Amino acid sequence: MSCKFNFSAGPAILPKDVLLRAQSELLDWNGTGMSVMEMSHRGKEYAPIIQDTEKNLRTLLNIPKNYKVLFLQGGAVTQNFIVPMNLLGNNSASYVISGYWSKRTFNDAQPFSNIKIAASSEGINFTKPPEISSWNYNADDAYIHFCLNETVHGVEYFNDPNKIKVPVVCDMSSTILSRPIDVSSYGVIYAGAQKNIGPAGLTILIVRDDLLGFADKKTPSTLNWKIQSENNSMINTPTSYGIYLAGLVFDWLLNQGGLSSVEKNNLKKANYLYDFIDSTDFYINNINKINRSRMNVAFNIHNDGLISEFLLGAEKNGLFGLKGHRIVGGLRASIYNAMPFEGVVALVDYMTEFKNEH
Ligand SMILES: *Cc1c(COP(=O)(O)O)cnc(C)c1O
Repeated sequence: MSCKFNFSAGPAILPKDVLLRAQSELLDWNGTGMSVMEMSHRGKEYAPIIQDTEKNLRTLLNIPKNYKVLFLQGGAVTQNFIVPMNLLGNNSASYVISGYWSKRTFNDAQPFSNIKIAASSEGINFTKPPEISSWNYNADDAYIHFCLNETVHGVEYFNDPNKIKVPVVCDMSSTILSRPIDVSSYGVIYAGAQKNIGPAGLTILIVRDDLLGFADKKTPSTLNWKIQSENNSMINTPTSYGIYLAGLVFDWLLNQGGLSSVEKNNLKKANYLYDFIDSTDFYINNINKINRSRMNVAFNIHNDGLISEFLLGAEKNGLFGLKGHRIVGGLRASIYNAMPFEGVVALVDYMTEFKNEH
């Protein structure tokens, strides 16, 4: 059976309309006779592509003028050391640990000095992220880092950290563009593209301009935000096709009416799935209700011996990518922006059928 709905955590589903448009423009972009992949990133043909991509992202997220948008590479994980290289200096920094990814970020920062834990929910198996008001940091920290949505554990913060006295650095890889956020609550926002933005390889970083210029002397130019910003993300060749595809996704989101409409769709999908899970004893999700991720629904079967049979049957029904992350097991349905409501309905239909048969 081939895939009808792709619930994979990432790389993940892309909007069909976007893929069709990319296909129709693949050999000849806008009468240039060239594929976007073949264009010089400094040429006049490519310039409007990257400019429009940035402009549309700024519109979608309502990014204030004093923030720079960078199109980088290396994925979100590479930011685990790029962030301290650009911001730490001789100061300290605090890290909130609310799941697999933010723990990994903290661990990856260990080669730097003065890296501390601001709060952790590991003791309760990451079922509820530490309240923002409980974060413990120093007034002279260079920054505090946290992850808005933990993709593996399926746990999300729904409020922006707007009262924090030091710059907030946030990994938004799996929830960016799923709902409006207040960018001005953050110093730095970054996201790997392969969840809600486009193909893997592109990393988007949004940085408040007063945070540029603190990079360690040894920082290579490609990883130095200030240098990248001064060179329009082109100190070397950017991932030009990825930026183009991200631009098509941003167009698609704007055509839906922007992030308030996108959020409505996402709420409808997530509520439909969680309400079903809660209506049975057969499936379980034990994340604190108000922190349940709208993008990554991690769940389990009460009798977890049934997982492989569940997955086999799901694929027979065209439902792909439902296996939980290897470190937590169980099941996970990633329902990013591009997942249509019908996909969630098909999943719940299958889950109902599977439950009734067992
Ligand atoms: C997927 C993901 C990552 C990993 O991103 P890479 O692009 O593979 O480096 C990091 N953080 C979060 C929250 C993620 O969802």
